[in-house]
Amino acid sequence: MSLNFVAVKKCQFCNTDLPVSTPASFHVCASLVCRQKWVCLEREKKDEQREERELLLVQQLEQLRLSTAKELSCDEGDLQLFRVPYQRNTQEILSDDRKAMFISHLQGLLDSLDKPNLDRKYRPPHSKVDPFPAPDLAPLACSACRGRCCGQGFKTAAFIERETLLQSFEHFPELSPEEVKALYIDCIPKEPVKNSCIYHTDSGCALLPKLRAKICNDFYCKDLRELGSQAGSENTLFVAIDEQVIESTLIASVPST
Ligand code: SF4
Ligand code: SF4
Ligand SMILES: [Zn+2]
Repeated sequence: MSLNFVAVKKCQFCNTDLPVSTPASFHVCASLVCRQKWVCLEREKKDEQREERELLLVQQLEQLRLSTAKELSCDEGDLQLFRVPYQRNTQEILSDDRKAMFISHLQGLLDSLDKPNLDRKYRPPHSKVDPFPAPDLAPLACSACRGRCCGQGFKTAAFIERETLLQSFEHFPELSPEEVKALYIDCIPKEPVKNSCIYHTDSGCALLPKLRAKICNDFYCKDLRELGSQAGSENTLFVAIDEQVIESTLIASVPST
């Protein structure tokens, strides 16, 4: 007769025996204190891994900058590298249901125009950067990024509220409310980016700037604001990064202002 011994696992913090049913990768008992210690430890591990990946990324970016400068035959010091976010979704055919829901949102706003106080109070996303210090570079940065921030327009109906329509009527005083609504509908692309704003396409925003919500015209993400404060080189290398991985690059040669 042979005997099988099952090794008793112990909690890594208090040394209590763990039930045999405990999953192999789990080394913590059910006590709150031990669970809290485990959560802290896991968090620290993740932070360390993130820091390691960041160090690696910084090295990769510098190598990329140097090799790009070589390719462009420009002085290393004359090539600035800027990190931008990245959105990875591709375009998809707009469903009739989604389009109908959006149009009904517009109609609902038109039917309640006398109640602008129902709108969320508009707060500028950050202190005004107008005019943007690097106007030629901003669209290029957003193009390398592929419109990450426009993902916020998915659940907010492109941020269009009563205030937005009232502002559009001022821009187009010769048009009736129904005609302004038709302008919004005409701008809807057939294939917007998946899980993003209905007006978001691979080539940018399909909505006329005068019809956009204030936030769409005011918003510059953190990376773009950094670009505004630091741009000054003739050559700029945009590197779009998601989850600390380089996703795409774009070189811009714009005379410094
Ligand atoms: S503002 Fe920032 S997040 Fe938005 S599209 Fe431009 S680079 Fe991307
Ligand atoms: S309306 Fe245009 S700028 Fe505003 S969230 Fe949608 S795609 Fe982006
Ligand atoms: Zn324990």
